[in-house]
Amino acid sequence: MTGPAPLVIVGGGPAGMMAGLLFARAGVPVTVFEKHGDFLRDFRGDTVHPSTLELFRELGSIDRLLARPHNRVTELSARIAGQSMRIADFTHLPVAHRFIAMTPQWEFLDFLKDEAARYPSFSLRMNAEATGVTVDAANRVDGVTLAHDERVPARLVIAADGRRSVLREGAALPLTDLGAPIDVLWFRLPREAHVGNDTMGIMDRGRMLVLIDRGDYWQAAYVVPKGSAETLRAAGLPAFRAVIAELAPEIAGVVGTLADWDQLNLLSVSLDRLERWHRPGLLAIGDAAHAMSPVGGVGINLAIQDAVAAANLLAAPLARGEDVDGRLHEVQDRRLFPVRVVQTMQRLVHDRVLGAVLDPAAPIDAPPLPVHLLDRLALLRRIPARIVGLGIRREHVRSPAAWPELER
Ligand SMILES: Cc1cc2nc3c(=O)[nH]c(=O)nc-3n(C[C@H](O)[C@H](O)[C@H](O)COP(=O)(O)OP(=O)(O)OC[C@H]3O[C@@H](n4cnc5c(N)ncnc54)[C@H](O)[C@@H]3O)c2cc1C
Repeated sequence: MTGPAPLVIVGGGPAGMMAGLLFARAGVPVTVFEKHGDFLRDFRGDTVHPSTLELFRELGSIDRLLARPHNRVTELSARIAGQSMRIADFTHLPVAHRFIAMTPQWEFLDFLKDEAARYPSFSLRMNAEATGVTVDAANRVDGVTLAHDERVPARLVIAADGRRSVLREGAALPLTDLGAPIDVLWFRLPREAHVGNDTMGIMDRGRMLVLIDRGDYWQAAYVVPKGSAETLRAAGLPAFRAVIAELAPEIAGVVGTLADWDQLNLLSVSLDRLERWHRPGLLAIGDAAHAMSPVGGVGINLAIQDAVAAANLLAAPLARGEDVDGRLHEVQDRRLFPVRVVQTMQRLVHDRVLGAVLDPAAPIDAPPLPVHLLDRLALLRRIPARIVGLGIRREHVRSPAAWPELER
């Protein structure tokens, strides 16, 4: 084949939009297909970590990102059995931006779209749901199918369609389910606009609530054992409001605004991993390759890192029109280690910590010793900050820029 290869990316989430941006920047013609008409999706986290901010510094677009609405979190804390504990301090990280930018995900995705649109080889189709893959006579993936039997040919398909990926299923990639014992109920509560950030996790009396400070409202996450949301619902909304008010007295005055169960969204949590992230003609990245739990708030950043690794390894050869089938495994080889480590830690937290925290029969009555140590020793708080903020095997942008004049 001659000339740059056409690339199809399915899924306009963090992984797909970042991959779209980087491959287009390298001069690869790329179309991202997103099934929704906008980026206002179910809440999936707001965390843009220092490692991700560093990538946009490398790309010269950090000022444009930070011009978008966001809150800066320099420290993480938790309230356990009524005691406030500091657990992570980002202010000493060896990067330029030492904070988590709490950016609503639609803002972040819209930013990625605007950045990608600077490059002539980028296009995005919204309201375009992929239904499967097409294969050639040699059983190599050579495109995708969309609704209404539309077929889109592709030199390479990147499946970035998230944890319920239809493409990974269509491509028959083997999956290991690691199990996740929790689900999350998401809802919003009003608050007065203010400066600063009061994001916090609250664990008490066999219950867990996370309050994410979004300036003029709280994004709240109530963690429940998997499958137990119906029991909660059966107990009625007044009982639920009372639980929230008891856990977080500072928001007791606004829980009354929860007037209908429709204001709450139940998000099912999964933890799984493909055994093989690729087959000839197709590569899976982000949650489509490894669905992440919200624990630690790292899934968005891992998805971004996958996209950077994929572009680092494949963008230049694809832009030269080369066949990359034999190189797809390099993306998995590079990214499997950090994914394994993070998923192992998430499983530990699911099994050892959340199991205990969500046991109303034996509620924790004091913060455990490691949390006390973190609260007391400032130096120790730099360790979780480094793991969460920078991750493991951090990627840097090494893919080429086909239009240097468009940079910055
Ligand atoms: C309740 C919850 C809270 C979370 N909180 C955080 C957090 O605070 N911080 C964090 O870092 N991570 C968090 N995560 C994890 C994080 O959301 C994911 O790891 C991350 O979004 C993965 O990005 P992705 O691009 O791979 O997939 P997704 O974000 O799932 O994006 C996939 C995209 O593909 C689109 N799509 C799906 N199917 C198709 C199709 N057939 N055709 C076309 N388009 C399709 C979807 O509409 C979506 O836009 C949370 C997860 C959950 C469930």
